[in-house]
Amino acid sequence: MTDSFEQLLARETPKLMNCVHCGLCLEHCPTYRLTGDESNSPRGRLSIWRALAEKRIDVSAETDFYSDDCVGCLACQSACPANVPYADLLYEARRDRVANGKPVHRLLRLAGSAVQHRTWFNLLNAPVRALRRSGVPLHRFLFPGQPSVTQSTADYAGLIMQQLKPDGPTVALFTGCLMEGVFREINFATVRVLAVNNVRIVIPDEQGCCGAVLEHAGLAGKDALDDANRAAFDQLDVDCVITNAAGCGLALGHALTAATRDLTSFLDELDLRTGRPLPTDHLYYDFPCHLYHGQNVKNAPKRVFEAIGNDWSLAPMADRCCGSGGTYNVTNAENAETIINEKSAFLSDAKHAHCTLVTANHVCMMQWHSAISRAGLRSKVSVQHLVQALDQAYDRAGVYGESMKA
Ligand code: SF4
Ligand code: SF4
Repeated sequence: MTDSFEQLLARETPKLMNCVHCGLCLEHCPTYRLTGDESNSPRGRLSIWRALAEKRIDVSAETDFYSDDCVGCLACQSACPANVPYADLLYEARRDRVANGKPVHRLLRLAGSAVQHRTWFNLLNAPVRALRRSGVPLHRFLFPGQPSVTQSTADYAGLIMQQLKPDGPTVALFTGCLMEGVFREINFATVRVLAVNNVRIVIPDEQGCCGAVLEHAGLAGKDALDDANRAAFDQLDVDCVITNAAGCGLALGHALTAATRDLTSFLDELDLRTGRPLPTDHLYYDFPCHLYHGQNVKNAPKRVFEAIGNDWSLAPMADRCCGSGGTYNVTNAENAETIINEKSAFLSDAKHAHCTLVTANHVCMMQWHSAISRAGLRSKVSVQHLVQALDQAYDRAGVYGESMKA
């Protein structure tokens, strides 16, 4: 064990001692449910880290395996009556492991480096946006969409603000790296939906990635991104900072002093305009784990669904992680697939001619789209972000003028 890791665990020992071994977290843990292995549960991981801190065991391939095999869904943290700060412990342990030379999956290393250069990331992903826009199926994770190839969300929002001149609450929009680089149509839908509900939007240019991918992988660099985001957002005269991706909201919320709100719960408190129901038989809502467990947003956005107008219900096991967790579908694709297969099985049996799975995080959408593609359900099931569903309902109701279309 290196000095640094020793120091880390020694520092965290009081938090590790919070665990009273009650086991209430076990049934909530996807890796425990999958394996039945106590060491692959929250309680087991905490015991391992405590044993390391107390020098009863040494770091080994086995202790590394159990630290790595956590999905990062944080279901244990919200189930724990002793308030064990599981996420802090996990992220610190992973960061320290990497700092001490442990390998990181090459895709995560690449992604972790790319997201630190936002302008380049957006430029390099222009062909991906163009191909998605053209309808070419690229990869089962890349759900279909119509992103703008050249116009940024900030430029689009500027035009919409000039056009509609909303004078209600003012929010700063966090546009994200993957969301802006690849799934930009969700940002555009966010702008339209907020604007027609009289919300003024500002988008600071200087913002950076939230750093969630770095945190999950244990890579360095989040501190610099946090500084950039604090400089971009904390001094703004706005009611709150809005994120439309649950994972980004969790990471950004920890960095900023300014109030950070997830778009779903923000929308749910507005006096929303109503749309025209979507051409689908049913909407199933699934909570992103980093919204439900990470940000403690546990109420479904009922008023948003009322504004959309379709029949809807919570998806079965809606509070359980879809398996993408932080970066789990990259680091442990096989387990991630097993987890989403269990969650998505109900869609094969659903009696609807067509239904839509609605969630609130682009990475969850990728995971759902991948499962639906594998199951051959693409003609029967669509995947949408909640704001896209409302945006489409507004479009069908004629809420938008021609000039608002991207
Ligand atoms: S974060 Fe999720 S996978 Fe990891 S220990 Fe907690 S419940 Fe289990
Ligand atoms: S619920 Fe909390 S206190 Fe109980 S075993 Fe799990 S981590 Fe420990």
